[in-house]
Amino acid sequence: MKNIVIFGAPGSGKGTQSDLLVQKYGFKHISTGDVLRAEIKQATELGKTAQAYIDKGQLIPDSLMIDILAQKYDALCPCSGVIFDGFPRTIPQAEALKQMLAERGTEVSAMLELRVPEEMLMERLINRGKTSGRADDNAETIAKRLHVYNQQTAPLIDWYTAEGKHHAIKGYGPLEEINAALCEVIDQA
Ligand code: AMP
Repeated sequence: MKNIVIFGAPGSGKGTQSDLLVQKYGFKHISTGDVLRAEIKQATELGKTAQAYIDKGQLIPDSLMIDILAQKYDALCPCSGVIFDGFPRTIPQAEALKQMLAERGTEVSAMLELRVPEEMLMERLINRGKTSGRADDNAETIAKRLHVYNQQTAPLIDWYTAEGKHHAIKGYGPLEEINAALCEVIDQA
């Protein structure tokens, strides 16, 4: 089975590209952001806790996220492959993912980083906010999320490079071109 981490800043196109990859490969898709938004919609305890962080553009604590991820993974797998979208976002999460997969006899096959210049991210997220209905797609929260990405999430690029699993992909231009570049790596992973 393949475990693909799709990685990048908010607005880098992880969700869009994940959908295309799911269509092509039939992999399962775990978007931790989508999981949290569903919990918020259902007004669960987890949803209430998550909302406070999401509205401030902050990350949900690692211990909580790691539990959610493991539960979601076990609900979907065994399967032919998984796309991890929005997880891991911190080094402890990457370590936990490595351990969780090892316990299940598998590992991350590749980490694909969608690279997009920061001013383009801002523009994309502001535009998305006009139709997404996402409370965190507003200028102030976007700036916070980009800051959190640079501080807490971007260090994972070096972490996965050390694991020999990092691949940088140009994340702008025609969608099909971006998708083809991702597929090329996945096919060899
Ligand atoms: P996303 O849809 O991936 O942009 O996630 C939206 C928000 O959900 C983020 O800004 C975080 O507040 C929270 N979130 C999603 N995934 C994670 C994660 N792996 N760790 C911590 N917080 C997360």
